[in-house]
Amino acid sequence: MRKSSLWAIPLGGLGEFGMNMLALRSGDDILVIDAGMMFPEAELLGVDIVIPDITYLKQNRDRVRAIVLTHGHEDHIGALPYILRDLNVPIFGTAFTLALVRKRLQEHGLLDTADLREVAAGRRTEIGCFEVEYIYVTHSTIDCVALAIRTPAGVVIHSGDYKMDPTPIDGQPFDLHTFARYGQEGVLALFSDSTNVERPGYTPSERAVWTRLEELCRAAPRKVLISCFASSIHRIQQVVDIAALVGRKIGFVGRSMVDNVEIAHGMGRLRIPDGMVIRPQDLRSFDPKKTVVLVSGSQAEPMSSLSRVAVDNHRLLSVEPEDTVILSARIIPGNEKSIFRMLDHMFRRRALVYYDNAGGLLHVSGHASQEEQKLMLNLVRPKYFVPLHGEYRQLFRHAALAHQVGAVSGEVLLLEDGQAVEFTEEGAVRRESVAAGRVCVDSGSLEEIEEVVIRDRKHLSEDGIVVPIIAIDKHTGRMESRPEMVTRGFLPSEDGTEVLDGARAVILRTIEQSNAEEKTDWGVIKEKIRVDLKRYLNKQTSKRPLILPVILEV
Ligand SMILES: [Zn+2]
Ligand SMILES: [Zn+2]
Repeated sequence: MRKSSLWAIPLGGLGEFGMNMLALRSGDDILVIDAGMMFPEAELLGVDIVIPDITYLKQNRDRVRAIVLTHGHEDHIGALPYILRDLNVPIFGTAFTLALVRKRLQEHGLLDTADLREVAAGRRTEIGCFEVEYIYVTHSTIDCVALAIRTPAGVVIHSGDYKMDPTPIDGQPFDLHTFARYGQEGVLALFSDSTNVERPGYTPSERAVWTRLEELCRAAPRKVLISCFASSIHRIQQVVDIAALVGRKIGFVGRSMVDNVEIAHGMGRLRIPDGMVIRPQDLRSFDPKKTVVLVSGSQAEPMSSLSRVAVDNHRLLSVEPEDTVILSARIIPGNEKSIFRMLDHMFRRRALVYYDNAGGLLHVSGHASQEEQKLMLNLVRPKYFVPLHGEYRQLFRHAALAHQVGAVSGEVLLLEDGQAVEFTEEGAVRRESVAAGRVCVDSGSLEEIEEVVIRDRKHLSEDGIVVPIIAIDKHTGRMESRPEMVTRGFLPSEDGTEVLDGARAVILRTIEQSNAEEKTDWGVIKEKIRVDLKRYLNKQTSKRPLILPVILEV
């Protein structure tokens, strides 16, 4: 590898939504940007979370200098507890981002060994042969940065997640000037957020939800429940301010909501007037006409506060007729069914429910739309452009947008996870792919779940399971009673008994036809029963249930 060349190795987030991770390598130094997770699709049965495959980083563990974080969303920090166990490198992030990281690492007992280094927008840090400048960007959470990374091959800009909010809630604007300054100096490559490339125009300012939220809080006949993402500190600030304006007090319910409010408030990033907060234990007795409650669980996560309130199973809070329930969050694709089921419960309780932008904006995105993405390209004017943070169609359309703008002097590179590219003085060259992909994790044990386990679960969900229980006399090898057949997810139809009787006959025959030696070797007899039953059941039902013979010695 030449000293003046730079490799970019996307390890996650290019081709799927979530688990963002990009590695940059020059000489013997590797810098990793973000370490995100994603929630699994329904077909990954029972998998809790999905993280990027970091085989490449493990193979080069002596070269990995640090992980630099752009902001604190799960799709950027969620994989840290799993990755740090393998690769304990320094982590750079802004104050709020690191506060969220600390909380996660503490839950996993990793905080004491972690090396966290706080940075701030406008500052620079040297990491190996790289110099990183942190550039302030606006997004749906606070303390977000883009990165300008000076490398031996030139400057690389990573946008992080951003939108260009001209009127941010905390008054701190998107740092257009620094992007422009780098554009003027000359930028080798821009890596940029593709999430909202399908939306024309500009993403509305976070402030745009104020009008409708105020209107609903003013008109509410009784208490108001508002649910948003617990990391949406700007949204939380607006709800607090609106509550104060309309003469209501505010309560916070849900662990992530309470935690994040505490963190942001402690850092002075959330202003709550004195005497404004209703204690959780007082919520039930407080005058409903003077109450606003921020509740976590906007995506109807099964154990979340809002889901439990919806079915009247929450200690602190319930929904009564004429209460107002407002969902101030995007409905993430895949969650529609559970969210609408939850809202149906609210409707049954005769709550006034608001969940979309039809009557005025209740939610705005935190990601740049097309005009902002064009402006980013025009400001940075990179030689190479790589769309990131999106499914393939979004990356493709972001590439098309870049061609249309014409601000890229070299090449637009459409990459997916694992597809390495080397930037040299002569040009950008695609290199051999590195191992990349999804790793499924069980959040309880932190253990990786093998592909074969998922295949088994899929199999179980489709064809069910059959457990024949056979009692055999240890000495005579004779069966002591009729085999029991326990089934789950298999044969619900009326001819079920007939098939199961047939299966018993198959087991009897298998045992009869086995010799004495086989009969006393449980391993052999189990396998013979499994094979014969499999053939029989497949013939009778054309299904392939998982068959797990159990032999009881009596
Ligand atoms: Zn984000
Ligand atoms: Zn993101």
